[in-house]
Amino acid sequence: MSPPPFDSLNMGTGRGDDPVLVAENRRRFLAQVFGPGEHRLALLKQAHSARAVVAKAGERLQADALVTNEPELILAVTVADCFPIILHDPDRPLLATAHAGWRGTLSGIVEATLTLMCQQFGADPARLQVAIGPGIGACCYEVGPEVAEAFQAAGKADGALHPGRGDRFLLDLAAIHHRVLEESGVSPAQVDQLPYCTSCRADWFFSHRRDQGRTGHMWAVAALPGG
Ligand SMILES: [Zn+2]
Repeated sequence: MSPPPFDSLNMGTGRGDDPVLVAENRRRFLAQVFGPGEHRLALLKQAHSARAVVAKAGERLQADALVTNEPELILAVTVADCFPIILHDPDRPLLATAHAGWRGTLSGIVEATLTLMCQQFGADPARLQVAIGPGIGACCYEVGPEVAEAFQAAGKADGALHPGRGDRFLLDLAAIHHRVLEESGVSPAQVDQLPYCTSCRADWFFSHRRDQGRTGHMWAVAALPGG
């Protein structure tokens, strides 16, 4: 429904798009994915933090990851270059969604999500199935030396920083996500990643970096099946 620069399936509010159009976009999207009718939804007030919380239906909590064991509660993450990450323990069952851009990745949002899943709900990293959604690739994600130094200081730079123009670097956030998951005990064979760069694929994705902030946002959603 949304006109440029939000054309057309913009799921994000607060960037200048008409909230009525965004609500209709969301309704159509949820109907396609989960079927028509009312949906129970949990949202995030994302802050690029390492805060993971237990989701509450109909609420928008200040955090960057949601965890739930409630069937049919839809967890949504809003992205446009940051990576959406979905984690599922089929034995509990237990579900989490996380929002991981450079700040959240640096401060450990994936680690915080895993900690909440395991400590509070008894998830086992060895059982987890993980999906990494589309985000900005190392092909396009140039960062300054101060960002590179922060990742080095955090011990997260190995294999994830490549030389860029001048004193800049190309940051491979997906590589860090894979390594953090593996070091946390998740089997690499159970981690799937969509191999698309949001900045490269202008035909499919909004990209905050490519569109210099004047763009829409996508949703990554997941829900546990009904009982
Ligand atoms: Zn790219």
